[in-house]
Order: sequence, then structure tokens, then C-alpha cells
Amino acid sequence: MPFSFADYARERGVRFFLVSYTDLAGVQRAKLVPRAAMDAMAVSGAGFAGFATWLDMTPADPDMFAIPDPASLIQLPWNSEVAWVAADLVMSGLPLEQAPRTVLKRQLALAASRGFSVRTGVECEFFLLDAAASGAGDVRDQQAKPCYDQAAVMRNFQLIARLSDAMESLGWGPYQSDHEDANGQFEMNWHYADALVTADRHSFFKYMAKTLAEQAGLRATFMPKPFAHKSGNGCHVHLSLWDLAGANLMHHPQGPLGLSPTAYHAIGGLLHHALALCALTNPTVNSFKRLNAPMTTSGATWSPNAVSFTGNNRTHMIRIPDVDRFELRLGDGAANPYLLQAGIIAAVLDGIAQRRDPGPRHDNNMYTQPLPEGACKRLPANLLDAMRELRANAEFSAALGQDFVRSYLAIKMIEWNTNAAHISAYELTSTLDC
Ligand SMILES: [Mg+2]
Repeated sequence: MPFSFADYARERGVRFFLVSYTDLAGVQRAKLVPRAAMDAMAVSGAGFAGFATWLDMTPADPDMFAIPDPASLIQLPWNSEVAWVAADLVMSGLPLEQAPRTVLKRQLALAASRGFSVRTGVECEFFLLDAAASGAGDVRDQQAKPCYDQAAVMRNFQLIARLSDAMESLGWGPYQSDHEDANGQFEMNWHYADALVTADRHSFFKYMAKTLAEQAGLRATFMPKPFAHKSGNGCHVHLSLWDLAGANLMHHPQGPLGLSPTAYHAIGGLLHHALALCALTNPTVNSFKRLNAPMTTSGATWSPNAVSFTGNNRTHMIRIPDVDRFELRLGDGAANPYLLQAGIIAAVLDGIAQRRDPGPRHDNNMYTQPLPEGACKRLPANLLDAMRELRANAEFSAALGQDFVRSYLAIKMIEWNTNAAHISAYELTSTLDC
């Protein structure tokens, strides 16, 4: 029997459904559907003109339909009359190949066909700025080393507690919140889950944090590097593979740092495809001002600057903090929640299939004692370089889907060209007198 949105609405007092999807630029799009229309809409889908969003379509394309996935339903914690639901896009009766949630679901189906279930957790860093986004919303937040500042997190208690309580009520298992390494920056952590669940929650968390911050007279931003000399917004991903019976496949008591050969092959895949993966994990022009950044006023960028892995050391791209998982520290707050996971999983599955060797682990401090030239690859210098890496990586593109990669690069090229045409204040001051 199909899921009844009408019953759900009646039981919970919901009047409207926000049928939502995320486009290739990471923007969430939605239609607000009254409950009486929802069950019919769940079958036919909510209609959209795809060209009006970032999906690499034309005005001549037929209607695109968003089919809501009831497994993702979330009653808004701040407005119980509305429930948000993630949707899958179809056109002419077929899944839209370039739709981010579809791209992720395809990777998860591939993983399952090889006997893996993928569980991930994301660490969302964000700034709470004043309404004009001119600086930290808390004017007293001025320490040079503000990380974990007890007073600063408590001055924002009302909003942080509201977000944490909301996650608790939704069953996400929030377990800690803190002030992060830049003035005005925070991080909130909730429990890891199946990768699709994490991607839906990640999308919703961004929407919720922005909405509740706005209600508090603030502006939440996940922008990778809003301030040149402060730490940026990372989005670290912890990943573990499990067999379909629910046993962790990462741990091996005799393996280096307690990890299994499968885990090291997965790491090998991420190292092998890292440069192309950057086009997904670090998807904006601004992203590359967080990667490879010069030192910040706090003393560390907390961002990787090269393609390397390590043990429990936060200066490398991949960290092994425990015996049951690893952490990829590459991604940032601009990453599309679905493409972030899809890209990582594609690289991981390739690493396992090809039994890729990650090479030696490095335990140096990459900030003060970087590896010598040639010991590891450098990360792309900018978005265009990352896009070229993705375009040139036939294996990785094929794994993600050629149609998706073509559309994604087309959208990103518009962004690159728009930015390239822009004359910055820095250019003017540094070049006016040439
Ligand atoms: Mg952090």
C-alpha cells in the first residue's frame, strides 16, 4: 500500500508539504503543496520547469517532476503546519540522470550490489554573522584563538539550543555543539547514518540553520572562506563500510591503526581520485581560498593542502581517528550534500574494486613541515583546475555517470566564467597604477 501523506498530515496537524529537491548548484527548490493535493502529487510528482533551476536543461525541455520520498519526511520543528520532503526528479518517465539525489542513489545501489552499505557523518561548520554579513553576529567574539570559547558559545545559547533541540526531536541524535576556530564560527554534530539519510539531513540542517538564524536576527553561512585570515567552513565526512548484515568492514585488529585492507583500498581510491573529486567536494570559486590557504590568525587553517593520509592528525587530507572509520577533511560548506557523498563513494568503490594502494602514511605536521616536492600531489589551485581534473578523469566520470558529469561541468563553467569576468576590488587597487 502506498504511503498516505493525507494520514500523515491528519495525525500530525500538517497543512502543507514542501516538496524539495537540490539542484546542481546546491540550491534547494520546492513547491508548497496543500495536504489535500499531496497523495495525487506523490504519484504524478510536482511539476517544475527544469531550465529555471541549475540542472543544465533548456526552456524547450518537457516538464520535470519531483516525486517525494516519504522516508525523508521532516515536520518543520519551528512550524508544525509544514513538512519538508526530499524528492527524486523524473522527466518523460525516466530518472533525471544529473539530479544530485539520483546520482547518490545510483552509487549506493552500486555499493549494495557489491555487498556494502555506506554510513557517513558530516561535520557542518558555519558562521553566525550579523544580518548584513559584515562580521560575527556577536561583537564580543574577538579572541585570536576562539575555538571552544565557552563564553561565546553560551552567548549564542538560545539559537544553538534551538537547533540542537530540533535535531533531538527529529531523532538525529545530536551529541555536541561548539564554537569553532574562527570568530563567529560554530559546529554542531549529530549521529552518523546511512549515506542517503545523512545527505537528506545535511540538506535540511543547512535550511534549518539559515532559517532559525534569520529568526534570531542573524545570518548563518556555510560559505567556505568568508574571511581571508580566519579558518573557513569545512564539511568533514566520516565514512565506514558495513556488510549487508550490519558488520563493520573497516576494522581489522592486526591492520595498521586497526584498519582493514578494504579500508586502505578505500583510502587508496580517494587519494587516486582526489583532484577530480575536488570539483564536487569544493564546488565554488571561493572553496579554493580555504584549500591551500596561508596561515590564519588562530594559527592553523584546519584545511588540507595536499593529497595525503595520516593517523590521528588534523593536518592531512584523510585522518584515521579510530579503528572503525576514516575522515575525509577535503569538503567544505558549499558542497552539495548529495554530490559530496556520491563523489566520495564513487572513489571509495573504485579503490576497493581496483585494490588501490594508498602508499605510505605520513605523520608529519603538514602546516609546519610539509612533505617534500614529489612526495604527494598538491590540491587544485582553483575551481577551473578541479573541473579540468574531473573532465580528464575518464574512470571517475564513468563511475559517476557521463551525463551527470557533462551537465555538472556545464553549470560550473557558467559560474567560473561569471566570476572570471568580474573585476575585484583587489584587482583595481593592485593594478590601477601599473
Ligand atoms: Mg570542525
